[in-house]
Order: sequence, then C-alpha cells, then structure tokens
Amino acid sequence: MTKRLGIGLIAHDRKKPDLAAWVTRNIQVLSAHRLVATATTGSVLKQSHPDVSVETVKSGPLGGDQQIGAMIAEGKIDVLIFFPDPLAAMPHDVDVKALLRLVLVYDIPAAFSPSTADALIMSDVFSPARRR
Ligand code: PGA
Repeated sequence: MTKRLGIGLIAHDRKKPDLAAWVTRNIQVLSAHRLVATATTGSVLKQSHPDVSVETVKSGPLGGDQQIGAMIAEGKIDVLIFFPDPLAAMPHDVDVKALLRLVLVYDIPAAFSPSTADALIMSDVFSPARRR
C-alpha cells in the first residue's frame, strides 16, 4: 500500500489561475492524495474539479496559511505547493515567512512556481519507490 500524501495548495490572487492550470495538468496524480487548500484557492480548484475532494482551511489572510503551517508541524501536510505573487505588495509577508520557516524546519518538499512544481511532481517524492 502506498502512502497517501497530504498536499497543501495555496496561491495568491493573480497566481490562482496558474495553480488551477497546474492542478488540471496533474489531476491524475494529485487525486490519489489528500488535498488541502486555503479557502479562496480551494474554491477556485473545486470549480475546475468538482469531482475531486479538496479540504479547505480559512483564507490565507484570516489564518489559513498558519493553519497549513500547523498541519506541517503536525505531520499532516507532506508537500507544499505555494504560488505567491512576486509582483504584489507584500501585506501577507509575515504569513509567507512563517509558512516558509515551517517548510524549512520540517524539511518538507515545497514548490513556489509552476516549473518547480512540475519538477517536484515528476520527482521520487510522488513515486511509489520513495513512499513507505
Ligand atoms: P486564499 O488565501 O486562498 O484564501 O486566497 C491564500 C493566501 O492569500 O495566502
């Protein structure tokens, strides 16, 4: 039996279409895992994939990023796919930093752009050989 990974999915507003497109490209692999998204990201993903289960936490600015961070600390999120908007002003900066810090503390695989997310999903993180 292969391990079902907990995958955190978050995108800032202008990056939500990029994350939705990435999820669509990889839906076959992703649908075998537990998907957890912040509220608005999750509703965008549910619109494009109503048949796929996506758990949601609060919106990022209302504590959702930190809920995902707590799930990383609890071992419930194994992989983070997070597309921040590098051209936006940085009102969420503290949330982003807190989440990144926990990614580093618990050393979970994480991707912050479509190309790194592509590399991650093709890596042995998602292959049965790596799962225990
Ligand atoms: P959202 O939160 O998915 O509810 O927009 C993400 C964020 O802003 O960090």
